[in-house]
Amino acid sequence: MVWWEDDPALLDSLVSGLAKEFLDLSVKKQGGKVVVFGDWHVYMDKEYATSYTIKIDLPDDYPISMPVVYETGNRIKKSVDTHFIRSEIRGNYSAIPIYSACLFAPPERWERWPPGSNFNDFLKGPVNDFFLSQAYYELTGKWLFGERPHGIEGIFDYYAEKLNLKTEQVSIILKCLQYALIRDVKSHVKCPCDKSKRLISCHWRLIKGIVDILPREQIIIDIKRMSENYLRKQRILSGEPGML
Ligand SMILES: [Zn+2]
Repeated sequence: MVWWEDDPALLDSLVSGLAKEFLDLSVKKQGGKVVVFGDWHVYMDKEYATSYTIKIDLPDDYPISMPVVYETGNRIKKSVDTHFIRSEIRGNYSAIPIYSACLFAPPERWERWPPGSNFNDFLKGPVNDFFLSQAYYELTGKWLFGERPHGIEGIFDYYAEKLNLKTEQVSIILKCLQYALIRDVKSHVKCPCDKSKRLISCHWRLIKGIVDILPREQIIIDIKRMSENYLRKQRILSGEPGML
């Protein structure tokens, strides 16, 4: 069952929320999905700056999964460098690339659009920041937000920042996150960053900071993604046959 059949009141509140604050966005059902579309206005220093034509797909399990944002006016040249993620729709004869907005790294979702937030919060937070940054880039050639690297590198970057480590300190990041999955740490345990320090008086506070924000499942998924990426790189570096 899709979310809007399961919880019609959630769709009603989305529609009434848009009517209150986003008059140039509309809702329609398209192929069994709820889609929000229309003009997104960018304001800089409270002055109207420009508008983008956008479409937002709400996934069947919304709000568990995040809405997916597209710029449909063909104004932005889409690539990883302009913060778009490429995927493909398979046609009969060819694959058509589609580009969705890369709003933030997956674990950031719990701060940027935490559970209990509504659709207008999504618009006023991540969507606003994204298009403000796009408009700023058009004007200045610089990004206002979105300096974090993409894909798996963005995930490393996120955890490195939280743990006050460098992104290259992969094995230390991963060991710290293993500790994030246990509730308590014995006082004699050494910190992954430095064997002469005790975890409890070193990285434990920062690890707890992650645990306070992220659900266990997110940490487990990210450890898996980062470990696989790390091991693959190690194998390539060691010249294991068949890895290149
Ligand atoms: Zn430490």
